[in-house]
Amino acid sequence: SGGSDPRHFKHQDLELHSSKKLQKKPDFGKLIFGRHFSDHMLDVAWSESHGWGVPRIGPIRNIELHPAAKVLHYALELFEGMKAYYGDDGKVRLFRPDQNMERMQTSAKRTSLPDFDGKRAHALHRSAHRRGPQLGPAESRQQPYEALLYVITGPVGPYFPTGLKPVSLLADPQHVRSWPGGAGAYKMGSNYAPTIHVQKEAEKQGCQQVLWLHGDDHQVTEVGTMNVMVFWINENGEKELVTAPLDGLILPGVTRNSLLALSREWGEFKVSERNFTMGDIEKAVEQKRLIEFFGCGTACVVCPVHNILYAGRNIKIPVPNEKASLSGRFLRTLNDITYGRVRGHPWAVDI
Ligand code: PMP
Repeated sequence: SGGSDPRHFKHQDLELHSSKKLQKKPDFGKLIFGRHFSDHMLDVAWSESHGWGVPRIGPIRNIELHPAAKVLHYALELFEGMKAYYGDDGKVRLFRPDQNMERMQTSAKRTSLPDFDGKRAHALHRSAHRRGPQLGPAESRQQPYEALLYVITGPVGPYFPTGLKPVSLLADPQHVRSWPGGAGAYKMGSNYAPTIHVQKEAEKQGCQQVLWLHGDDHQVTEVGTMNVMVFWINENGEKELVTAPLDGLILPGVTRNSLLALSREWGEFKVSERNFTMGDIEKAVEQKRLIEFFGCGTACVVCPVHNILYAGRNIKIPVPNEKASLSGRFLRTLNDITYGRVRGHPWAVDI
């Protein structure tokens, strides 16, 4: 890859400036998710005239922006998130970083931010978080002529340290996350800002997360910032794992992709990427065909659901024991890969 711009940053140009003042290390047993950052960050600047500049790792610092920076007004930015795992053998591994780099490139195209070489970026980052604020003054032309790519890292503990904790969801069709022809399939900030208010609304109604519906038939698309999966006996009496299709409305999750690949490899049940509705869920629960319902994403890997508040009714979702459940099996399988218990798995990349 690398797009049409030959002026890419290179790993061998990397400049390293170590921080002289290191922060106090957090208590690793009590990490708050997404709250702690390491002492260093990586950044590379891009400009229309010079292409990508020299990548630098230096002390973590605030970034300075012109008040007219387009990121502040038009949310012209994108990001990625992935996890590195400390293996049982002391090695550190990233989970499928090539997938995150590819998704970042599709987001870059959609936001008109500069393209980059995914492989070189991976060699450079080894862990990614990206934002591309436009630094110059606003003008009528929307396309950015300067951008900044940066990578920040930080320690996180396991999302569910004491076993999976099922959550409750608010499914209210008046809130819409994405729509046909929109940008819901890209990891850009503008998809996330409007969801904070809806998340607060869910909490007000005693729910923990939002179940995003789409269309007059209330199709089930995503949950919070996760993809959603249902395991049931379908109307034809077949055991089936279903998730919404990649039709432009949902983010193509790396976890979603991995769970689908595992299921297809196991070949024990039908695997479908197709639309399903709240009506299908209600009917399956009523007819006792629904086995489990869960979200999936990098942060938690899997997140079981026990209740959906929909049209003023509480739909009780069965939650099988973690050892017997499909979500539990997915979690154990992925943990074995990410913590290096499966030797040389192609999804776990040493750093
Ligand atoms: N949907 C949305 C809206 C997300 O923000 C995320 C998190 N990246 C996901 C799904 C899950 O994607 P992944 O498995 O790549 O973390």
